[in-house]
Amino acid sequence: MRSLQYTQPGLVEWVDAPDAALRDPGDALVHPVASAMCDLDRRIAAGTTGFTGPFPIGHEAVARIDELGADAAAGGLHVGQTVLVPLNPACGTCAQCQAGRSGTCASIPSGSAFGVASPAAYGGLFDDAVRVPFAAHSLLPLPPGLDPWLAAAAADSMTDAYRLVAPTLAAQPDASVLVLNGTPTLGSLVVMFARALGAGEILFCDRDPARARRAHAVGASEVRVGELPDRVDGHFPLVVDCSGQPEAGPACAVRSVAPGGTCAFGSVYFGDISLPYRDAYHRGVELRIGRPHVQPNAPTVLRMLAEGAVDPAPVLTPPLAYGEAPRLMLDPPTGKAVFVR
Ligand SMILES: [Zn+2]
Ligand SMILES: [Zn+2]
Repeated sequence: MRSLQYTQPGLVEWVDAPDAALRDPGDALVHPVASAMCDLDRRIAAGTTGFTGPFPIGHEAVARIDELGADAAAGGLHVGQTVLVPLNPACGTCAQCQAGRSGTCASIPSGSAFGVASPAAYGGLFDDAVRVPFAAHSLLPLPPGLDPWLAAAAADSMTDAYRLVAPTLAAQPDASVLVLNGTPTLGSLVVMFARALGAGEILFCDRDPARARRAHAVGASEVRVGELPDRVDGHFPLVVDCSGQPEAGPACAVRSVAPGGTCAFGSVYFGDISLPYRDAYHRGVELRIGRPHVQPNAPTVLRMLAEGAVDPAPVLTPPLAYGEAPRLMLDPPTGKAVFVR
């Protein structure tokens, strides 16, 4: 089968790989029909993450089920079904999964996911076929009629954006939100969900004018284009750092959040960060860090997409051909690239 692999900095290519196959009764074999490029994939392709190749790339997809082990079939899935494939498999039964934290499932090695260099060598979600462990819990049925192109990024980025804002806005409807952005698409998706979930003012800061325009199109009340200041004035019970700037972003978030507020860190930093701790301490700041728990949160995201409560179309490219993926990973279009077969 063909597998899309990151081989070395600046090189992503299709390679011939052994066919994926069922291994355990809980497995499913799927073939992606829509795959989205995560902001992280661009960094992997460029070689700035510290991940060492080669490995299959891609962790956001909608797929069709081709084969099921006995346990996976007993779990309610069926061959031919269209499903979301979240960025990591999750068993559904360990204490972490039971607590709603599928991103830290104890049945998979820590940090493992599709499409990254991780202890468990899962496939990549651009591959012709992918083995999915714990399929009955890992995979999420797509609501009828929902376009796979629109939904693929719910496997990670869109669900990430949702959970970065949802808890605060559930507890404090109308709360104003500050988004510090430097990511190609995550910040815009954060704005989109904050608007849909009833945020008050949404201020979006970015050095890139095109990204600021996109954020405005999906609901930002105000956009500011320029370098991040030390602190943004205002009253923001929630600040989301998607700046991608480990020295400036988290510190600016902590200085800008309202007393008792929350800083949610959406950027993936591969090193240590330092924070203005005394400032945070005196104002009682809560920090939220970590990858999203997709299995418990994505059903809400898929429902919002199906009902039209959110429309990410302004953030997505039109459907692209999978054959274009190696080139576009290195020379990405503006917006989130989504490939359809
Ligand atoms: Zn991702
Ligand atoms: Zn688990």
